[in-house]
Amino acid sequence: MYCARPSLLYDLRHKQSDRHQRLAGQATPGAVFKRGFMLHPNAELRYSGPEVGSGVYATAFIPKGTITWVQDPLDQVIDLNSNPEYRDYPPVLERYSFRNRDGHYVLCWDYARFVNHHCEANCLSPGLDFEIAIRDIEEGEEITNDYGSLNLEFEMTCLCQSPRCRRCTKPEDFDRLADVWDKHLQQAFPHIARVDQPLWAYLSDRALVEACLKDNRLVPSIRNHLYKPVSV
Ligand SMILES: [Zn+2]
Repeated sequence: MYCARPSLLYDLRHKQSDRHQRLAGQATPGAVFKRGFMLHPNAELRYSGPEVGSGVYATAFIPKGTITWVQDPLDQVIDLNSNPEYRDYPPVLERYSFRNRDGHYVLCWDYARFVNHHCEANCLSPGLDFEIAIRDIEEGEEITNDYGSLNLEFEMTCLCQSPRCRRCTKPEDFDRLADVWDKHLQQAFPHIARVDQPLWAYLSDRALVEACLKDNRLVPSIRNHLYKPVSV
């Protein structure tokens, strides 16, 4: 993973141990895993190195507009208010899950939990339960998204090495960058109809996507994904 919060020293210390990697289902040096589930079939899990850990990489060219991930019915959606026992597992939840628009933690059971952050991510979600490639992804390129769009609770140091790296990904990035992400999504959306979509059958929002393909103004804003806590 490219990002790491300084407070996650427990996690960082342990992520390099073989035992921890096996427990988390991570790739280890030399290992490649090809079961993608609701990830695009041209994606696989690879070991990215001791600093980053595991990552998801394209095994073939994935064109702009391709649906690269769909939320899987087997993914765990955890409401900490209803399931306070999960508060005892912060390294797992913080490291491998993201928060959805309801403030619930989505812990993907497949390799999607190893998709790393990048400050120039090649995939984003249009505020729905899937992601698309916002530009062409070359064979061998890592598939990434922007954690700033995933309702971060804490700042995360970034090691993505992009020339435009923000060095630190922050909760406030959502407001600051949502318009930029929306432009990327609006440009990529029409390509959905022009490229192969192996994950199309698994999409729950097909009718909405089809409507957006007829009228690009209907493309949802990434702000739909923003968690807005209800103040008491
Ligand atoms: Zn970065």
